[in-house]
Amino acid sequence: VKRSKTSGLVEAYQPRALTLAHAQFEMETALRRAIDNGDLRLTFQPICDLGTGLVTGFEALARWTDETGTAHPPSDFIPVAEESGLIVPLGRWALDKAAATLVEWDARAGGDCGVRVAVNLSAIQLQRDDIAPVVERVVDSSGLTGNRLTLELTESAFITDPDRIARTMHALKEIGCTVAMDDFGTGYSNLASLQKLPIDVLKIDQSFIMGLLADRDKVAIVRAILSLAQALGMDTTAEGVETPELAQTLTALGCTYGQGYAFARALDPDAAYAYLVARNHSSAA
Ligand code: C2E
Ligand code: MG
Ligand code: MG
Ligand code: MG
Repeated sequence: VKRSKTSGLVEAYQPRALTLAHAQFEMETALRRAIDNGDLRLTFQPICDLGTGLVTGFEALARWTDETGTAHPPSDFIPVAEESGLIVPLGRWALDKAAATLVEWDARAGGDCGVRVAVNLSAIQLQRDDIAPVVERVVDSSGLTGNRLTLELTESAFITDPDRIARTMHALKEIGCTVAMDDFGTGYSNLASLQKLPIDVLKIDQSFIMGLLADRDKVAIVRAILSLAQALGMDTTAEGVETPELAQTLTALGCTYGQGYAFARALDPDAAYAYLVARNHSSAA
């Protein structure tokens, strides 16, 4: 085999799997450093009550820009964090940061600022970390009450050890937290467990929401999820609400909350607080 002078050509001869493994390892190393150095940011996307238009909460979403200035979307780095086990420190960081941000907003408001913050828990994180005691410590040390935090779980969390996840959910409820089922409708929807588990909110996946206005099948699916949630006494959040028309339609269909670009994208803590003040004060006036 002839050596090429340009490393790019040599790389092209590597088997694809090796190249991918290498890229993954590099990202893992950089992500580990980012977590250690505090280079991850937490951003906050408003969740609005569709009936009143008021902001009732924010979802905390992680953001990572590496040392070269490249922004990596969570869809790239969360899977790497999961495979490497870094999801455990990343997940703990997100909980701490979410609580600290809420404490800061309360301080600015001179009392309870009136919103909850939702933190995502990945299935792998739930397998690898005993999350309820972690949440309890965060709540106790921040001085917040448990009802200020929502934990978002996906259906995939129930595949490997449903009993363990059920215990975790009950423990989170004991602390006073809200439990939301994220990306509902895309995974393994076990309706029997839906009824048994202490789920407060179903978050309808954005794939059913986007394009809803032009698709009768999506309307049918969303209606079915809304009536299921209502029958089981759960609230509903529509994800991916990109337009005011969509927000109106979802309100008419009886969905409880909306989240999406029609309201705002994920915002830095200061911008999120400003959004909260502007929106809730002008609505109240
Ligand atoms: P998710 O929990 O379902 O979060 C909602 C995603 O939809 C976010 O993507 C949000 O920015 C995006 N989104 C919200 N409204 C709209 C809209 O109107 N249109 C469109 N096109 N997209 C919208 P993001 O921030 O890229 O996060 C992707 C996923 O990464 C999240 O999905 C969540 O599963 C995961 N993730 C993000 N941060 C964390 C974290 O701290 N921990 C864990 N375990 N997972 C996280
Ligand atoms: Mg989520
Ligand atoms: Mg979601
Ligand atoms: Mg989603």
